Amino acid sequence: MTIPVASVPLGDEEIEAAVAVLRSGELRAGARCAEFEQRFAERVGTRYAVAVSSGTAALHVAAMAVLQAGDEVLVPAFTFIATAACVALCNARPVLVDVDPDTLCIDVAAARRKITPRTRAMIPVHLFGHACDVDGLRELARRHDVRLIWDAAQAFGTEYHGCDIGCLDDLVCFSFYPTKNITTGEGGMITTNDRALAERCRLLRSHGQAQKYYHTLIGCNYRMTDVAAAIGLVQLERADALLAARRANAAVLDQGLSGLPGIRLPTVQAGTRHSYHQYTVQVDAGTLDMSRDELAARLAHAGVETAVHYPRPLQEQPAMAPFGPFSDLDVSGRAAETVLSLPVHPGLSAGDVEQVVAAVRTAVSTTTSGVR
Ligand SMILES: *Cc1c(COP(=O)(O)O)cnc(C)c1O
Repeated sequence: MTIPVASVPLGDEEIEAAVAVLRSGELRAGARCAEFEQRFAERVGTRYAVAVSSGTAALHVAAMAVLQAGDEVLVPAFTFIATAACVALCNARPVLVDVDPDTLCIDVAAARRKITPRTRAMIPVHLFGHACDVDGLRELARRHDVRLIWDAAQAFGTEYHGCDIGCLDDLVCFSFYPTKNITTGEGGMITTNDRALAERCRLLRSHGQAQKYYHTLIGCNYRMTDVAAAIGLVQLERADALLAARRANAAVLDQGLSGLPGIRLPTVQAGTRHSYHQYTVQVDAGTLDMSRDELAARLAHAGVETAVHYPRPLQEQPAMAPFGPFSDLDVSGRAAETVLSLPVHPGLSAGDVEQVVAAVRTAVSTTTSGVR
């Protein structure tokens, strides 16, 4: 039996909630969506929440809300492509910025160096559930009059200096894809404390329709359905338990894997409360005398599935070529070669986590050149 690297924590309650909506005949965005938005806003401590059909839709709506064609937008090079795609979809230009070697989140000093008079916004990513340097980025944004869109797709539950990362005045985008910290199937949410921005996002989500068949903006249909929202409402009630399980599993991994040469454990910087969407180690192939992929193969053999988030930084994606040439992205390039995500999800039993620890310890204690 293989321990999977991700799980979908769907229980009978979610299924019953979805079926109840289906039985009611409400297949559109209705009362459940409004309720989910309200509960979500309460939970993260913000004024406004706008439910959408995916995390990508959240980013696209946020980008449409603040960008104009030709704008430059700073995005980290080490992320999922949606972070940059939403910029390109607005006929704006994603400018790739390198990441911090410890957190793998956008490097604030590197971002500062890439700001130009055309820079309209930044889209930092709270990668793997670790918070970015929120204060540093907000200060940079304020100084250069640049908007912030936070890609919090992986960071539901992450806190920064005691506050939920969803509580900022800027636009914050969440994903409820099945493997994220909470799920609605496909789904997403935009949060903000800015009333005008929230209204704009609401319009853009639904064809800019201010009144029936009266459109003030060009938008999309990115509405969430009530079935998805009903699932999300149940997930919100379970969120504390789901997050606690991720954090407890991470603590066991931290302890069990500490001190292993060649395995760099995820850092948690002061001020961040990590939500451990991923538990991603960095493998030093030189020290281990074994490549990252060789380690992954050994773990697979020992019944532990792993994943590489991400095997190619954005500067190496063919789809990004029109926005090049890119420069100064060495940390992102190296990260793509060293990262390995271990199972940390709430579906793991205590025995599973112990098995992950044992498998990693065994795999690194013997090298290709024999027993150490
Ligand atoms: C998952 C993810 C997205 C996109 O969310 P979807 O719900 O899959 O569309 C965007 N950015 C990051 C960093 C993600 O991990």
